[in-house]
Amino acid sequence: MGLLDGKVALIFGVANKNSIGWGIARALHREGATVVLSYAMDRLEKRVRPLGESIGCELMIQADVGNAAEMDAVFAAVAERYGKLDVLVHSVAFAERDALGGRFIDLRREALLSAIDISAVSLIELARRAERLMPAGGSIMSLTYNASRTVVPNYNAMAVAKAALEAITMYLAADLGSSKIRVNAISAGAIKTLSAGGIAGFRDLLKYAEVTAPMKELVSQDDVGDLALFLASDLSRRITGEVIYVDAGHNIMGYTDVEALMKEAE
Ligand code: NAD
Repeated sequence: MGLLDGKVALIFGVANKNSIGWGIARALHREGATVVLSYAMDRLEKRVRPLGESIGCELMIQADVGNAAEMDAVFAAVAERYGKLDVLVHSVAFAERDALGGRFIDLRREALLSAIDISAVSLIELARRAERLMPAGGSIMSLTYNASRTVVPNYNAMAVAKAALEAITMYLAADLGSSKIRVNAISAGAIKTLSAGGIAGFRDLLKYAEVTAPMKELVSQDDVGDLALFLASDLSRRITGEVIYVDAGHNIMGYTDVEALMKEAE
C-alpha cells in the first residue's frame, strides 16, 4: 500500500528530466498518486510527454501560469477526468536573464514585476482554482530558495519573488486551513537545472553550497521529491504555512572559513 493511494496530484513546472518538479512527480507516483503534469509551452511537450508516460500520466497539459484561460483549462480537465484534486505542486519560476545578475539596485522594474507575477502571484491563481477541487482538504506546496531571507549575489529579482512566495504561502495557509487545505513551501538547496543555469555564477554557488553545508553534500531532485511526498501525504496533516528546508543544513550556517574548506575539498 502506498502513502498516496487514491490521491490525485497536479504538478506545474516540469520542463525536462532535471526539473525538481519531475523529482517530485516520481516520488508521488512511487507512493501511488495519480499524477497530472502541466508544462509551460508547446515546445516542451516532446520532453515532458515521454517522462509522463513513464509514470502512467493520463493528462499532460500545456499552460502558462500567466494565462487565466490556460490555467482554467488544466483544472477543468482534472475535474472532468478525476472529479477532485488532493495535491497541487507549484514548481514554477521565471525571470528575464538581466534580472538575475548585476547590481540589485539597477534591477528593471518590468523585469522584477514579471518575475514576481509568474514565480509567486501565480501560486494564488493556482490555489484559488485548486480549492474548488479539494472539498475534502488537500496539500498545496511550492518551491522556494533561501535567497528570500539572506543575500545571495545575482538572485536579485528571484530573491524578491521568493520572499513574496513565502509570504503568500502563509496567507494562503491562513485562508485555507479551515477547509483542511495545507499550504507549505519547500526551500531547496541549489540544484543544477534549466532555470538555475540562468543565474550568473551558479556553478560557484553549487561548490560553495557543497563545502559550507554541515552535511558537505548537494541536494538532489530525489531529496526534494521525498520531502514533497511527506507534505503531500497525511503524515504532514497538521503542518501548514511553513517553509521547510531540504538543503543539507546550508541555511543554518552564519560564518564559515570558506578558504580552508575549499582547500580541504580539493
Ligand atoms: P526548471 O527550469 O526545471 O523548472 C522551472 C519551471 O518553471 C519550468 O518547467 C518552466 O517551464 C516553468 N515556467 C516558467 N515560466 C512559466 C510560465 N509562465 N508558466 C508555466 N510554467 C512556467 O528549474 P527548477 O530548478 O526545477 O525550478 C523549479 C522550482 O524550484 C522553481 O520555483 C525554482 O525557483 C525552485 N528552486 C530551484 C532551486 C535550484 O537550485 N534549482 C533551488 C530552490 C528552489
